Amino acid sequence: MHSFFDRPIEFLKGVGPQRADSLNKELQIFTFGDLLQHYPFRHEDRSKFYKVSELTADLPYVQIIGEFKSFATIGMGRKTRLVGRFADETGAIEMVWFKGAQWIQKSLTIGVKYVVFGKATSFGGKLNIAHPEVEIQTEKNTKGGYLQPVYHTSEKLKKKGMESKFFSKIMKVLLVEAINHIPETLPENLIGQFRLIDKKTAVVANHFPRNVDQLSQAQNRLKFEELFFVQLRLIKLKIARTEKYKGAVLNISELLNKYYENHLPFELTGAQKKVIKEIYADIRSGHQMNRLVQGDVGSGKTMVAFLSMLIAIGSGYQCAFMAPTEILAEQHFKGLQEQAQQMGLHIARLTGSTPTSERKLIHEGLMSGVITILVGTHALLEDKVKFQNLGLAVIDEQHRFGVAQRAKLWTKTKEVYPHVLVMTATPIPRTLAMTLYGDLDVSVIDELPPGRKSIKTRHFRESKRLEMFGVVQKEIEKGHQAYMVYPLIEESATLDYKDLMDGYESVTRHFPNHQISIVHGRMKSADKEWEMQRFVKGETKIMVATTVIEVGVNVPNASIMVIENAERFGLSQLHQLRGRVGRGADQSYCILMSGVKLSTEAKSRLKTMVDTTDGFIIAEADLKIRGPGDLMGTRQSGALDLLVSDLVKDGEILKTARIAAQDLLKDDPNLEKPQNIMIKSHIDSFSKNAVNWGRIS
Ligand code: ADP
Ligand code: MG
Repeated sequence: MHSFFDRPIEFLKGVGPQRADSLNKELQIFTFGDLLQHYPFRHEDRSKFYKVSELTADLPYVQIIGEFKSFATIGMGRKTRLVGRFADETGAIEMVWFKGAQWIQKSLTIGVKYVVFGKATSFGGKLNIAHPEVEIQTEKNTKGGYLQPVYHTSEKLKKKGMESKFFSKIMKVLLVEAINHIPETLPENLIGQFRLIDKKTAVVANHFPRNVDQLSQAQNRLKFEELFFVQLRLIKLKIARTEKYKGAVLNISELLNKYYENHLPFELTGAQKKVIKEIYADIRSGHQMNRLVQGDVGSGKTMVAFLSMLIAIGSGYQCAFMAPTEILAEQHFKGLQEQAQQMGLHIARLTGSTPTSERKLIHEGLMSGVITILVGTHALLEDKVKFQNLGLAVIDEQHRFGVAQRAKLWTKTKEVYPHVLVMTATPIPRTLAMTLYGDLDVSVIDELPPGRKSIKTRHFRESKRLEMFGVVQKEIEKGHQAYMVYPLIEESATLDYKDLMDGYESVTRHFPNHQISIVHGRMKSADKEWEMQRFVKGETKIMVATTVIEVGVNVPNASIMVIENAERFGLSQLHQLRGRVGRGADQSYCILMSGVKLSTEAKSRLKTMVDTTDGFIIAEADLKIRGPGDLMGTRQSGALDLLVSDLVKDGEILKTARIAAQDLLKDDPNLEKPQNIMIKSHIDSFSKNAVNWGRIS
């Protein structure tokens, strides 16, 4: 059916076997279809000509017409540069070449009219254009009125003459033929509803738009389509799963009410109430729940989980609560135990270091149903761990668990699938969440408990180390505690280890009168635990640690966090770390220590941290700085394999596309209606044609 697009690229006029080989190797362009989807990454505006007097450093690449008045070679040896004075009737500007000065001067003539294309930048208070594109003025290049596509290519391809212009050329050849083969993929009603342009026009215009307007229409159409089909697949997956997997019916809230009336330690926030309602609606429905609860650090996710567990237990089921590390499991266990005991519930803990004798008791308790809550680590996933009737599984700090592990929890019980509640403090921008977790329902706790004071954050360079120690000293004198964090220690990173140990020594020297804890990944878990406990109990005033304390640890008395080599951490990690303080009623502080020389990115990360404590703003910034591929190893997920859309910029289109997909499936779950046939066949061709072509057809 798609034979035209499957034709090997070597058969396109102007390509041939040798170039085809290079295109295969360098850009994975194998077929006509691949080439067609090699969209330009930007367009140069050749639609109008600017006057020299209109140029500013804010303009993009623009074209001007004029002539060279003089040339001068400045500097010596390798630093030689050529400067040409270029003028039109409104003024003059300098053109600068740092390379090929001799050759360029020879090729240009004073007094001849040229069309110059370039970007004006401000240098030493003066505008100039470096390495402009210069062509002798002709009738053709003076016409203007078009946008020049700029294609991604590689150094190797450029050396073989396959620059951006080469792609323009063969693309024109291809489009002439392809135009008759490009099928429409969206039904008329959607096209009408969202005022999209048709597929053919969009594909052509995305390469060679008539004007800026048409380009944006083309992009809008292609992005909508791409995101629409991504969402359609995710939502279909979700529907299929909900239909297939029955969940325990958890609808008895007596236990919850009892706790609520007699033991609830604080008033719930509005956001907590809202999320609990959403969960309750899911778990009483008879379908399996797969819900992601997103809430910034300190937003009170644990209480939401506990209240959900009370519904499960009240309805006669057991619960599992899984944390990513032993320290966290331990802490959750302690916290939950306190609450559970008030209710007379039997709660147990299972981690890698649980002794065999204890394990046996736990296994028995789970099988007999005596244990109603099991808190632990990955150890919960072991085959030996069997429940009598697991009704709800809570996974805390989800990003450390894979989807496969989530799936494994489902099989822990025979009759019905346990509901799954995933909790993450990693603030994922909504657009990303929709794409990554489109198959999960998402609840957001977007409110912190009242009375929290926003953490004050500062960025210090090495020269302010003494001042930093002073701030820590002051907090300790007030009776508070401090964290000092060093970048992650990996088994192999001996340097990091030395950093930490040096740091520890310098801290002990500075605070000779205080007890100081140290925790890092190379310690045995029992030792880690012992040190943590000393800090939790307030016996030690300072905790020197690596990122092992990153998630979840809760010591409300700790009011200051110092992060060493902060430039080496990513934004979301910095945010997580900082979230360890600001949990009590007093003002908390975070000091980011860094080296003197910082990359632009590092500067921007640290500035973001100083400027805001809002996890969602930080996540958006992170997405902008790093791009979605880097966030939490999403690169491997495949969900982000987008051709034309940009999750940072196209959030609005994504939302629209998601709603459109939802509506469509609500109306026609199996895509059987005549108007949806083309969607169905498109989706089917996806799965058959897993390779590139699938995206365009
Ligand atoms: P996180 O969402 O980061 O897991 P926690 O569940 O650890 O947050 O809660 C952080 C702290 O806030 C805990 O000490 C918890 O007891 C407290 N907390 C949770 N909800 C409320 C609330 N509604 N009012 C006051 N304190 C709360
Ligand atoms: Mg937590």
